[in-house]
This record gives sequence, structure tokens and C-alpha cells, in this order.
Amino acid sequence: MFARFDIEKERLEEFPQRLGTLLDEQLRKIEEIAAAKDAGYEDVIKRLEEMDEQRALFFTPLSHLNSVMNSEETKKAYEESIAQLSLFHSRVSQNRALYEKIKAIESDDIYRKRVLQNEIRDFRLSGADLDEEGKRELEEIDLKLSELSNRFAQNLLDATNSWEMVVESEEDVEGIPEEELAKARFEEDGRVKYRFTLQMPSYIAYMTYGPNRELREKIYRAYTTRAPENAEVIDEILRLREKKARLLGFDSYASYALQTRDARSEDEVMSFLENLLKLSIAAGRAEIEELGRFALREDGLEELESFDIAYYSQKLKRELFDYDENMSRPYFEKSRVVKGVLGIVEELFGYTFRKNDMRLWHESVECYDIYRDGELSARIYFDLEARREKRGGAWMHDWETRFLDSRGELHLPSAFVVANFSPAQGGEPSLLRHDDVVTLFHEMGHAIHHLFSAMDERSISGINGVAWDVVEFPSQFLENFAYEAPILERFAYHYRSGEKIPTEILGAIKRSKNFQAAMAMLRQLEFAIFDFRLHMKLYQGAEVRELLESVRERTALVKTPPYNRFEHGFSHIFAGGYAAGYYSYKWAEVLSADAFFACVAEDGSFDREKADGYAKNILSQGGAEDMSTLYKRWLGRRARPESLLELYDIGSGE
Ligand SMILES: [Zn+2]
Repeated sequence: MFARFDIEKERLEEFPQRLGTLLDEQLRKIEEIAAAKDAGYEDVIKRLEEMDEQRALFFTPLSHLNSVMNSEETKKAYEESIAQLSLFHSRVSQNRALYEKIKAIESDDIYRKRVLQNEIRDFRLSGADLDEEGKRELEEIDLKLSELSNRFAQNLLDATNSWEMVVESEEDVEGIPEEELAKARFEEDGRVKYRFTLQMPSYIAYMTYGPNRELREKIYRAYTTRAPENAEVIDEILRLREKKARLLGFDSYASYALQTRDARSEDEVMSFLENLLKLSIAAGRAEIEELGRFALREDGLEELESFDIAYYSQKLKRELFDYDENMSRPYFEKSRVVKGVLGIVEELFGYTFRKNDMRLWHESVECYDIYRDGELSARIYFDLEARREKRGGAWMHDWETRFLDSRGELHLPSAFVVANFSPAQGGEPSLLRHDDVVTLFHEMGHAIHHLFSAMDERSISGINGVAWDVVEFPSQFLENFAYEAPILERFAYHYRSGEKIPTEILGAIKRSKNFQAAMAMLRQLEFAIFDFRLHMKLYQGAEVRELLESVRERTALVKTPPYNRFEHGFSHIFAGGYAAGYYSYKWAEVLSADAFFACVAEDGSFDREKADGYAKNILSQGGAEDMSTLYKRWLGRRARPESLLELYDIGSGE
């Protein structure tokens, strides 16, 4: 029923070759399909979907193993395979006959219609409608854009690595936690000195704890003036994005990007962001005023500058509530937390998890079979403890997908949840930080989006075909549970004494999340508005900076120093995948906050009927329709932005 995870180490060497055979065979079949006469949905789309699943079944275990049990062998096999797969995809997307065949298929079924629309859209966006010259041009633009992104990132990395600040006086490092200080400490000419760099942990450490204001400004200035040569790279990137959008028939890069998003129009995105700005600006001002009063009282500081905010915020936070993650850790023993999250999902959605004791790729890995009304419906694997062979971070990786194949046979879904929690050691179990608990809920939210699918068409089943700007909605939805006292109380017991987690710690967890939440919101809105407007028309040279300044006039709570060149380091949109997409953080968050309040009452009790509706209308529907449509069907209305403010306890500012 489910595929068995048994990738043999001895056979890794021949993996790329076996993949090659599979891909050749599939390409041959695709040629056949494209040439067949009178081919309908079953003969074309179903067969393509079967091939998609076949590739996923074959390749996912390797890519998973390469991430969690990395070795020279997995790396080599993975890299060779990726190259083959990318060639395969580009050949399929350039298959004109296949494109024509798909365009000619008709269906009355709403799901199949959606599948066909998506297929045609993707062909179109990869240039299938262009003439030969247009295709060549598009290819050239894409190639240049990827080179420019690399150059942007490389310039930034070089600049980050080429600067350091050596601090010689103990007074200037007073208050920096020993853990951070130890990393900065070195000896020279028989004296102890401290080295701070622009790399993340080091930079953050001085900005947050560094007591010398001049040094704080020095490191801040170095950080915010990195890579001035990126100004030219930015111009070139923006010019090529605009050109690409026009070549494909769109007025702007933003409207091109929206083709694969839940947000429908430029206006819709902008008014969404502007509305959040309007709702949170007063609270943001109140927060910065409180911080200003605190800095005045602490150090007689007359005016807060950008390089003071992290420093005084940290001090204020400590004054307001004395909490650090080590206090909660003993209450979050790994297996109890896993049981806790599974219990919550069972209660909310009426599924049952049953442990399956099969042997897997590592002894700490656990597997559960998932039942609905006594019937086996999905499978999930948890690989949660850090080890040397695992890449950092946490993620959900889908393996099998629920769908009906051309013989009418049902395939069930499965997924991996992976994290890097501190491992069990010397008789002590794995104890999680509260952040880890949040992470587990988050990834579980992604997993059930994939696993609770009821779709019969593979390309819109589970997380397939879900618009990019709403992918984080189900994960953030579940993440919201991990801050609520009545929910944490269900599973947070001291791993040794068995005592319940103290209410003071629960209060501190929630207040930590909400501390300066409006300020954080305004910062993200600044990035999002700048990013989106930057892609609504072509900006070049000084116009980029002027745009950013005009956004800041309305979002920034303290005046940014004139030397600050934030845009030269905005990797999310110039070297990552977030161009005209930074808004999606907030877009998904509003949905997740609104959905959370629909399902959970203030005392932490669940509204089973609403939760059931969430599973039926959202989770099980995958990419069947736009998320906004699914959402409206569930609650009979759109998600309210006010819910997000409520979630973070952001008031009107009075
Ligand atoms: Zn996520």
C-alpha cells in the first residue's frame, strides 16, 4: 500500500543510471502520448500524473537521504540526478505537441478543469506560446537573471566576510552573554581581545548587547553599507524582470508573478498591505515611545537611533519579564511533545495515529500510520534529532501523494517531518526549546495539508498546486496553537518530576511572542510594500532609493541614517525567490490567525465543527481552487486582517 523506504547504500553508485533509464522511458511514453490520436484526459493527464508519482517514488528517498544521512555517496548520486531531472523537465515543458494535446482536452469536472488550466498556464509561463526568437530571448533572460542573483549574493557575502571590529576593552563588551563572548574572544600580544564581524550571530550579538553606543553605530554602519556595487546588479535584475514579464504578455513583473498566486491583482495586494499598516501604526508608535522613555530613564538617551533599538529592546524585555528558554526546556521532552501534537490533531480533525515499528534509516526515526474512521489513509515519518549527517533547519518533505490512477486504483499519501532538536544524550532525553515546539507544530501543519487530502487528481492533491503565497497558511495555523497556555498545558510536564509547567512560564512565553509585535509588523510591511511597488513598474538608479525612502516615511518609527543602503542586502528579493512576494508572509498569516480564532475558543477549547470544516474545506482540497475561495466556502466570509492584530495583541495604540 505504501512504498517501502529501503534505499540500499551499496546501490547508490548506480542510482543516477537507473534514474536515467526511468527518465528515458518516460520521455518515450510522453512522445507517444503527444502523438496519439483522440487522446482524452485519462490518456494524457492521468498517465502524466502516474509518471510524476513514479518519479517521486523513485527519487524522493534519495533526496531525503541526502538531507538526513548525508555522505559523499548520497551527494554524488543526488547532484547527478538533479541535473538529469532538470533536463527532463525542460524537455517536457518545451514539448509543443504535448502542449497542443493538453489544450485540446475538455472536461466538465471542476477538478479536472483546474488541472488543465494549471497545465496550460505553466506551459504559457515557460514560453510555450512564443516564437523561436522569443523562446531564445526568454532562455537568455532566465540565464542572466540567475547569474545576477548569484552575483548579488556573492557581493554581499564578500562584503560580509571582509570586515571586522576588534574590541579591546572589557567595558565595551560588558553584558554580552558568555556564550556569544566566547566566540568573539581571542588573544593577541598577551592581551584578551574580542572580534565582532558582520556574520549573523556576531553582528546580532553586538547590536543586541553591545553597551558602547559608538561601537554599535560603527558595526551598524558597516552592515548597512555593504556591497555598494549591488546597486548596478539591482538595476540589471529589475530591467530583465520587466523585460521577461513583457515578453510573456504582462504589464509588469508583479502582475506576471501573481499568475501563480492566490492574491489576484496588484491592487488587492497593495490595499491588503496598506490596511495592515493603518491598523498597526498607532500601536507601533506607542511601542517605540515606551522604548524611548525606557532608554531615557536607563541612560539619559535623548533620541533613539536605529542602532539603539535592539539594545534597549532586549533590556526592556528583561525588565518586563524574566524568561529564558532554559526555564521551559525541562517541560518539553521530545516524545511527550510529539504525543501532544498528535493528540491535538486527533482531537481537532478526528484522525487516529498508530505507531508502526518498522526499521528505518536511523534508530531515532518514528513512523505512524494514520486512520480515518478505522480506515488507513496516510503515513507520516518523524526524524527530529540533530546529527552530523543531517542538514540544518526543519522541514516537511512530501513523498507519496493521494490520487486515483488510470486503472482507478487509489494511492495514499506519506510525508517526512524533519528537524534538528538536541538529541538524547547520556541518559537524558531530548529536551526541546519552546521555539522547537513551535517548529514541530509548524511542520506538522504542512504535513497534514499534504496527508489529509481527498483529491483524486495528483497535481492538485495535498500540497501540490497550492499557490505559493498561501503555502504557509496551514503551517502557521497549527503553529498558533503552540503559544496558548491551555494547549501547552496538555503535554508540558517536567521530564523528571512530572510536574505541570508553571503558569508564570506559560505567561512569559505568550508575552515574549507579543513583545514589540507592532514594531515587527511595521518592519515587515516596509519590506513588503517596497518589494511589491518595486515590481509594479520599472525603477532604475536613484528611483529605487527614493521609492524606499517614500515607503519609510510612512512605516519607519525612527529615522533611518542617511548612509543606510538596506536595498543592497535585500537578498530575499534579489537573490532568493521572494520577488514581488514578500507580502506573502502577511497574506498567509492573516489566514492562519483568522482560522485559528474560528477553531479555538479563549479558554483553549476546540470548536470541533469548525475544525472539521477546516479539514474538509481547506486541508482536503489541496490546490483544487484558490485558497480565498476555499476559505470563503468554509466560514462564509473572507479572513479578517484584524485577527492577525488580535493574535499578537496589537491594540489601537491607546
Ligand atoms: Zn513552512
